[in-house]
Amino acid sequence: MLSTSARGLRGADVRGQEELFVKKQTPPKSFTVECDASSEGVGAILTQENHPIAYFSKGFSPSNRLKSAYERELLALVLAVQKWHHYLMGYHFFVKTDHYTLKFLMEQRVTTTEQQRLLLKLMPYDFSIIHRKGSENKGADALSRRPQMLSITLPRCLDVTEIQLALNSDPYTSQLIYKLQQDHNSCPGYFFVDQLLYYKGRLVVPNVQGLRDKVLFEAHATPIAGHGGFLKTLKRVSAQFFWPNLKKDVRLFVQQCLTCQRQKYDTLSPAVCSHMDTILVVVDRLSKYAHFIALSHPFTAKSVALLFCKEVVHLHGFSRSIVSDRDTVFLSHFWQELFRLSHTKLNMSTSYHPQTDGQTESW
Ligand SMILES: [Zn+2]
Repeated sequence: MLSTSARGLRGADVRGQEELFVKKQTPPKSFTVECDASSEGVGAILTQENHPIAYFSKGFSPSNRLKSAYERELLALVLAVQKWHHYLMGYHFFVKTDHYTLKFLMEQRVTTTEQQRLLLKLMPYDFSIIHRKGSENKGADALSRRPQMLSITLPRCLDVTEIQLALNSDPYTSQLIYKLQQDHNSCPGYFFVDQLLYYKGRLVVPNVQGLRDKVLFEAHATPIAGHGGFLKTLKRVSAQFFWPNLKKDVRLFVQQCLTCQRQKYDTLSPAVCSHMDTILVVVDRLSKYAHFIALSHPFTAKSVALLFCKEVVHLHGFSRSIVSDRDTVFLSHFWQELFRLSHTKLNMSTSYHPQTDGQTESW
């Protein structure tokens, strides 16, 4: 038999083991991912009980920069979660974002293939999204706007010294520079730094030596730009550059682009008026001579009859008989009456048997 003290010791030992077991089973403290996306890049912080553990910051590719704010925020979340995959997989964690609509990520209807692709990447993870104000999401926000990302990147074809020299050749920019040198506040929005002229943070391109055309070419006609439309090109150019009437120049450049004129479907549509959407085909049974008459919806029996008289009857006179399909226009009383008066016999073709009026169906 064990003494009372020995029993007490064994009991304490068992309790200790239980406590140890319970401690081992305690889930780890949950992680929180704070993420934010700017137009330039993504920033994220991994925290545990408000203690920062890791930081993440990455610039967007040119194509990602053009995405909507929602898709950029979603991309920021995906990139952050994938970055800390080894911490987050298998545990429930929280995501803090200042983009309110992202809160309903799992409940909303996926509308684009891009969103579908990004959502699929988040499927293996267990997380809850918490919205918080932009003013409280400063850490991730600052990381998404690192100064390195905001540095001016010039197209390869543009040389900074080329722009610096050209600034003095353009009367508009040289005058601005002269004014700014006299007084910094003389031209609101403009500032002159390192021999370069800026307007609201955008580089001013002088109107000399085709510099503006080079910028436009880079933003529209290179393989990266991919001959985007007017708005895409304008967005690309105005993100970094500025000059008076920039919008007008971009519109003109895109309109005059030969590649766009050859490839875009807008310019491949028929040259006829866009409201003409139907063709009335009239074929002479003997000679196979055909008339193609443009019609626009909605047309009536009267309008078709008038057009028929104008285009066909005045050239060939009333025909002895006409074969037509069973369109309501041709079946209408007006049409039948018209041909009764002109002593024309109206023959209806049989439905689903185009061989009756094979002349017109083949057209
Ligand atoms: Zn083009």
